[in-house]
Amino acid sequence: MAFNVPETGQQRIVIIGAGFAGLKLAKSLRRSNFQVVLIDKNNYHQFQPLLYQVAMAGLEPSSISFPLRKTFQKDKNVLIRYAKINRIDPDQKRVYADLGYLNYDMLVLATGATTNYYGNKELQAKTLPMKSISEALQLRNEILADYEYAISTRDYAARQELIDIVVVGGGATGVEVAGALAEMKKYVLPKDFREIEAREVDIYLVQSGDRLLPGMSNKSSINAEKYLIDLGVHVIKNKRVGRCDGSWVYMNDGSKIPAAKVIWAAGIRCPKLEGLPEGAFAHNGRISVDRFNRMKGQKDIYVLGDGALVEQDQNYPRGHPQVAQVAIQMAKQLGKNLRKKTDEPWKPFTYKDLGSMATIGRNRAVVDLPSVYFGGFFAWVIWLVVHLYSLLGVRNKLIVFINWVWNYLTYDQSLRLIINPKKDDGPG
Ligand SMILES: Cc1cc2nc3c(=O)[nH]c(=O)nc-3n(C[C@H](O)[C@H](O)[C@H](O)COP(=O)(O)OP(=O)(O)OC[C@H]3O[C@@H](n4cnc5c(N)ncnc54)[C@H](O)[C@@H]3O)c2cc1C
Repeated sequence: MAFNVPETGQQRIVIIGAGFAGLKLAKSLRRSNFQVVLIDKNNYHQFQPLLYQVAMAGLEPSSISFPLRKTFQKDKNVLIRYAKINRIDPDQKRVYADLGYLNYDMLVLATGATTNYYGNKELQAKTLPMKSISEALQLRNEILADYEYAISTRDYAARQELIDIVVVGGGATGVEVAGALAEMKKYVLPKDFREIEAREVDIYLVQSGDRLLPGMSNKSSINAEKYLIDLGVHVIKNKRVGRCDGSWVYMNDGSKIPAAKVIWAAGIRCPKLEGLPEGAFAHNGRISVDRFNRMKGQKDIYVLGDGALVEQDQNYPRGHPQVAQVAIQMAKQLGKNLRKKTDEPWKPFTYKDLGSMATIGRNRAVVDLPSVYFGGFFAWVIWLVVHLYSLLGVRNKLIVFINWVWNYLTYDQSLRLIINPKKDDGPG
């Protein structure tokens, strides 16, 4: 059966995914002559850069999410559908979900990326990812529950397994999580979990390469490592986590760490949608597109954001970095092109690198701008301002700001509740 979407005679653009790219494109097509159907398996947009603060009980999920329906309340040509698309039929120009199919004139894939376990089923089963609000909440629950259990556990070794944490992956997510955990150990544990000696808690950050933050400048890598070590994090480089069994974490060189909890932040891959030709997928599931984000060999399918691999940009021969700015800029350009008159030439996508940053606990961050790299307190203030500015919605900005000020002044995060959802399945 077909989705209930009115036939208006307008050209229909179906966008799958309301992340940074999908949302931006839908916004740039509001009040256009297209009928835009924005489909997401969540009924909200999530601001992934601050997920780690939800996982560390610093922010509520609702302050970094924004309801899609609210965004488009006044835009009659934009329709929202809550569904998980599981198949595409490019010949019939249809997308399929459990609740039915939907025809399109143009299709935009903006489904982002998910965690990459590199085919290791044990790591997938035994480690904790952090790519969505629900995963961040699960992580928060597990960290807090393990501290609670540790308090009641007499056996020293069993206690250590519960309180020590291994973070795998030294990119921005791993570095930020390790920094936040170290702060939690320093400021929260002594107050909330007095029976646990903070010095007994070990936080490890394992990075397979020879430096942290490989996507940033060498200076920022060195600074980030120094800040983490200052906070008491054990930084382990040039080693890979190959196994973990719920008690120990095993490295490729034969060494092991006693820890039950492993946070997996070691890579991403793009989920493959059924129905697209196998040849469409490049490295890690990204889809090759031209400079107009049009999928190779397909006239009416576009790919944006993390999932798009633009191979023809000389400055980025291996593809653009999988970051929010790329997704937003791609969407902006496609929106402008789609709005052009039929005889107007389209402009190819060119990425403007605005810089990158990562924060390490309170007061310290590293920032790489195109021509200058710096770290420390000033970098941290810039990190705060940029993230606050980028959040969607005035209410969210205000709540996050108040939370940050409160946490900063009191050295406390007030959201340490263990709330287990009863059902976490998405829609059909
Ligand atoms: C923890 C974390 C921290 C990050 N920190 C930063 C940072 O500090 N700075 C930065 O620039 N970038 C950061 N990133 C990367 C950034 O979030 C991504 O590059 C960006 O979100 C990509 O945008 P996108 O639109 O391609 O995908 P996303 O924003 O991931 O959106 C994809 C959307 O598609 C939906 N979806 C997926 N599959 C389906 C389906 N089958 N059916 C329906 N809906 C579907 C999802 O629900 C989601 O809403 C971070 C990412 C993570 C996970």
